[in-house]
Amino acid sequence: MANSSGRDRTRERLAALDAVRRLLADPDALPSEAAAVLRALDVELRHTHGELREAVAKYRALVEQIPAIVYVDVVDDTMTTSYVSPQIEALLGVTPQEYIAQPDLWYRMLHPDDRERALQTYLEGRRSGEPFTFEYRLIARDGRVVWFRDSAAVVRDAGGNPAFIHGVMLDVTEQKLAEEHAAFVAYHDRLTELPNRAMFEELLDLALARARRHDTAVAVITMDVDDFKLVNDSLGHETGDELLRQLAQRLREATRETDLVARQGGDEFLLLLADLDRGGPGLREGTSGATLVAESVATRIQEALSTPFQLAGTEIYVSASIGISVFPQDADDAATLLKNADAAMYRSKRTAPGGYVVHAEQDDDALGRLSLTTRLRKAVENRHWTLHYQPIVDLAQGEMVGVEALLRWADPNGGLVPPGEFIPLAEEMGLIEAIGDWVIEELARQDAAWRSEGLRLRELSFNLSPRQLWQPEISDRIVARLEAFDVDPARVVVEITESAAMIDPDRTQRILWDLHARGLRLAIDDFGTGYSSLSRLKHLPVDVLKVDRSFVRDVASDEQAGSMVRAIIQLAHGLGMAPLAEGIETEEEWRFLVANACPLGQGYHFSRPIPADEILARHRRSGLTIVEPLAG
Ligand code: C2E
Ligand code: MG
Ligand code: MG
Repeated sequence: MANSSGRDRTRERLAALDAVRRLLADPDALPSEAAAVLRALDVELRHTHGELREAVAKYRALVEQIPAIVYVDVVDDTMTTSYVSPQIEALLGVTPQEYIAQPDLWYRMLHPDDRERALQTYLEGRRSGEPFTFEYRLIARDGRVVWFRDSAAVVRDAGGNPAFIHGVMLDVTEQKLAEEHAAFVAYHDRLTELPNRAMFEELLDLALARARRHDTAVAVITMDVDDFKLVNDSLGHETGDELLRQLAQRLREATRETDLVARQGGDEFLLLLADLDRGGPGLREGTSGATLVAESVATRIQEALSTPFQLAGTEIYVSASIGISVFPQDADDAATLLKNADAAMYRSKRTAPGGYVVHAEQDDDALGRLSLTTRLRKAVENRHWTLHYQPIVDLAQGEMVGVEALLRWADPNGGLVPPGEFIPLAEEMGLIEAIGDWVIEELARQDAAWRSEGLRLRELSFNLSPRQLWQPEISDRIVARLEAFDVDPARVVVEITESAAMIDPDRTQRILWDLHARGLRLAIDDFGTGYSSLSRLKHLPVDVLKVDRSFVRDVASDEQAGSMVRAIIQLAHGLGMAPLAEGIETEEEWRFLVANACPLGQGYHFSRPIPADEILARHRRSGLTIVEPLAG
């Protein structure tokens, strides 16, 4: 505010002017020379006064134009304000008169969270006599929160005692919001607005410190969306983003206020459950009450995902694989907890997608997975693959009508790895296209080799993973490889799992019709495990419906399973498709299927998947006969 020496000088000059005026009021009483001097002084002083007035006016105008509130407080018991610039009205909705009339208004307008701190700083500064700067929020009349940076100086009287406080309150709201935003951005994921991994780690550290102090437990849950790439590839990135946003919302709804949901990146999410009770037994040995809580959260998440998402005008079902790790029984620092939860999640992805796995001692997968990815890359380079073939059997005749090609990875240090253990990873790593191309080529080559040995199979089946279906020109790619070995597309059956077929039904429908138009035949694999819409199914050019082995398994003993399979067989016939039962392991199952008009099947009862030369050896031994037909 006003610079104090300037003000004092003004006062002195005005007093001098007054004195001169009083003397001039009676000039006759003065010696004439003195009167002349005084007159000259009067002129001079009037002139100075004019300049001063002007300066004060300019000064005021300046003070009252800057985007800040300037104030002068009197140092007394009540914090009286003697001057406040009119900007206060625009900024806080209070007139200067009101403000001056209510000495406690500043205190009352302070944001409750800042009130005590700001008051203390003010009183302290006033006592110290040194200039001070502090920041606080005031709540304006209309409820707006305004951030101020208040720079104040203490003005002393002639005796050296604090007399006034001159201060400037600068509105720094925008700057504060920008700072808050920057902090938010640094700690949040832009897409979903969830906290990010950095914030998760900080809060995890704090939670662990609390847990050590209070003997409580902490659970870390990692979650990865199954087949997310498929949604991205098939429906586009924008739809993928929208799915992630909706997912984030569901995760927030499925968890408690106090649980932290964060996005790790991509389609991976993190959950932190803190301050859990250590006591109480868990569901299994070696687990605790805290594990139980984490498992119930995992279940709630799965339930939250069970309703389809509405995206790009279609319904999409999404599942996620979940891993759980708990402090203290499973790890005692943040890094190990996260690593263990990740390992458990990958285990879930490989063995039970859509489920959850609690980390256990023997999970050495964190490292295992690393080397798995490297090994898988190498395998693609060196084509460490082989195909095994499982006979497809005419159930009434017991004869092999075809084979299904099943991929095996001949891992140099791991024996033959079944596809369930690496196909999901290959999809995530973007390696499935290369692998898929190899499968088709190898099947065609093998068929040519068999034919040259006199074995001509009616049906050659192979599996197309969901991602492969979306490759550009997929039908051209298949047909070209078949033609290279003179394989008639009409003998080839492309298997697509039910869930893959229903992800983007319109697009799938177009691709399937395209494959069909090129003369290929189509099968829906693992039928019964997805969510087919029958009206969709009716419009797909599908030739074979493969009943999932989970239904076939209990067919002979469980009446309900029996009637399910009966219904699916009838459904297939009704839709003009040939039903094929997967996973026939016993004679009773076979019997049941024949009795219920299921023409085709495969399963260990007839043959496991075997190498190509064993298929040939069998053929040499007993032709196409796999088993003697059932009597009666
Ligand atoms: P799928 O197409 O449903 O193949 C049938 C699976 O059931 C095979 O497992 C087979 O070994 C197994 N199986 C056959 N009969 C029986 C039985 O009687 N009992 C039991 N318990 N199992 C039986 P596999 O070879 O481990 O393949 C698993 C899945 O991996 C396949 O399921 C298929 O979806 C996928 N897959 C296999 N080869 C390929 C491939 O070349 N490309 C792609 N994209 N996926 C493949
Ligand atoms: Mg199959
Ligand atoms: Mg199957």
